[in-house]
Amino acid sequence: VVDIDWARIRADFPLLRREVHGKPLIYFDSANTGQKPACVIEKVDAFYRNHNANVSRAVHALGSEATEAYEATRVRLAKHLNVASEDLVLTSGTTFAINLVAYSWGLPRLKAGDVVLLTRMEHHANIVPWQLICERTGATIRVADLHPDGSLDLDALYAAMTPEVKLLGVAHVSNVLGTINPVAAICKEARKRGITSVVDGSQALPHMAVDIAAIGCDFYAFTGHKMCGPTGTGALWARRELLASMPPFLGGGEMIKEVRYDGTVFADPPHRFEAGTPNIAGHVGLGAAVTYLDDIGMDAISAREATLLAHLTEEMTAIDGVRIIGTAQRKAAVVSFLVEGAHAHDLATLLDLEGVAVRSGHHCAHPLMAFYGVPATCRASLAFYNTHDEIEAFAAALRKVRRLLG
Ligand code: PMP
Repeated sequence: VVDIDWARIRADFPLLRREVHGKPLIYFDSANTGQKPACVIEKVDAFYRNHNANVSRAVHALGSEATEAYEATRVRLAKHLNVASEDLVLTSGTTFAINLVAYSWGLPRLKAGDVVLLTRMEHHANIVPWQLICERTGATIRVADLHPDGSLDLDALYAAMTPEVKLLGVAHVSNVLGTINPVAAICKEARKRGITSVVDGSQALPHMAVDIAAIGCDFYAFTGHKMCGPTGTGALWARRELLASMPPFLGGGEMIKEVRYDGTVFADPPHRFEAGTPNIAGHVGLGAAVTYLDDIGMDAISAREATLLAHLTEEMTAIDGVRIIGTAQRKAAVVSFLVEGAHAHDLATLLDLEGVAVRSGHHCAHPLMAFYGVPATCRASLAFYNTHDEIEAFAAALRKVRRLLG
């Protein structure tokens, strides 16, 4: 393993030099949205200053530059994920990507008697679209449960894959618990039974190398803003034959071959699913983010975050009255926690006064909160740009807050 100067890498993130309430910022909310390196900010800025034009429309020089830059991100992402770029639909993020699957794949296919199988740890983005489709088709949702440590009960999950199940939705990494799910094994079981699989990769891509081809899923959705990219970016990867058979989700410009009032011929995928002017500058920035991550190396990032997670877990376990929720063997650097007798929001508010940014609430995962019997948790989520010093300062802040709360 090459020695990486993580202090130099941290210096790439201008926002991390900020102070909050007169204290140095400790940003432990990267699962919510990640911070951006200067190269991404500069790429977006340079796009607007020097190349701004709409994509796929103009033949003038700027138009081709913009189109080239936008399409280069598709190619860059495809390489990063080991898939073909024609099978990647650029979207505003995971929410759009899963809704696209629900409306274009699910709505025409699902019917009364069919079952959509989801796990207890799904984000609302992989629950609510399916509920909307089930209401319209008469299909129903089945939920596969977890072990108390926050890992999936695989026996229960496989037993739930009965012949009525047409679709399986599973998070690659839980945004609340950090659990890394064995999605390749799960998708293999689904495939054996003729079940179409959609993997929510939102929380996986920021932390690890992801090879979609090796996972063997049918759909893989992700968001760019958690992996150093701008907000309003992301993509859906889909198996080519599925994408080819799907009707458009939204109609408009950019997604057609020919429009007449008596009928329209749609463009081929992926453009069939990219109606209207996309987030061009954002996706150009996402391309720079992927290059940045690849230059560091995803395996180096995973290894760095594993040591940060071990340190954070050790510090937190040593504090009396702190309960960590989610202790699975395979975890990304996400730690949900509660302090005895304190509400999660009070904790987060007091931590903020110490300069610490953590998220508190239900983390868009009501059913998971219900499973643990809590209304909310605090969540400290790390990225490779965090430091061991920050972890120690966080632990000191947590001790102080715990004393304040009695
Ligand atoms: N799924 C998971 C697991 C997430 O963590 C998030 C973001 N919190 C989403 C889906 C939704 O992503 P976005 O809001 O970028 O569409």
